[in-house]
Amino acid sequence: MVIFLFLVLHWYLSLFGQTFFLHRYAAHKMFTMNPFWEKFWYTYTWVMQGSSYLNARAYAILHRMHHAYSDTKEDPHTPHFFKEVFSMMWHTRKVYNGVLEGTWKVEEKFNKNYPVYPKIDKLADSWTMRILFGLSYVAFYYFFATAWWMYLFLPIHFLMGPIQGAVVNWAGHKYGYRNFDEKDHSKNTLIIDFLMLGELFQNNHHHAGARPNFAVKWWEFDPVYPVIRLLHALHIIRLVPLASSNR
Ligand SMILES: [Zn+2]
Ligand SMILES: [Zn+2]
Repeated sequence: MVIFLFLVLHWYLSLFGQTFFLHRYAAHKMFTMNPFWEKFWYTYTWVMQGSSYLNARAYAILHRMHHAYSDTKEDPHTPHFFKEVFSMMWHTRKVYNGVLEGTWKVEEKFNKNYPVYPKIDKLADSWTMRILFGLSYVAFYYFFATAWWMYLFLPIHFLMGPIQGAVVNWAGHKYGYRNFDEKDHSKNTLIIDFLMLGELFQNNHHHAGARPNFAVKWWEFDPVYPVIRLLHALHIIRLVPLASSNR
């Protein structure tokens, strides 16, 4: 029971960092925040992703490429050029590392307006830190696991960030229904979105990329949007006013 709770908590707290901070803030700038809160959420995302920490700059650049070239050869993670999800993840990793190390040519239009904290990155992106996080998950299992098979969940903790990204990129461009006739293969995968905090309304999101609420129909629900409204009401973030056609 404790292990299951740990897995669920780690999953959602880490995913919140990815969807709220990396996706909706770093990549899309749907809202603004002051330097204190930016550093706070940057650190939050690092600690929650832990061993599978994703750099905000590289994430933002890859994600902007994804929107601009959705489901074409230039898309860093479309399921339509790969037979299974692992080869897609491997390709995404290649582009991500290239952007991070400066060996992948990044278009100027994608390469600005994202949070950068080199000191945090140096620590977060080091193998020492990644291994320490990994060992802390193993230690937790050592103390609380009540059966051997529970250890099979450990790889999910180790690779949390990329796994969550891959579920969205694979399922959200392959399975589900469409509300909008976009040029790509984006779909709304509503039946498993409870696992993905609104991220699987890909078709809605590709239709209106700057819109902070990924749900459109009355029967769709994006659980992160009320949290965004709350953080706005608390003045922790400021929602960017949208053109009325984008609401
Ligand atoms: Zn997409
Ligand atoms: Zn997006």
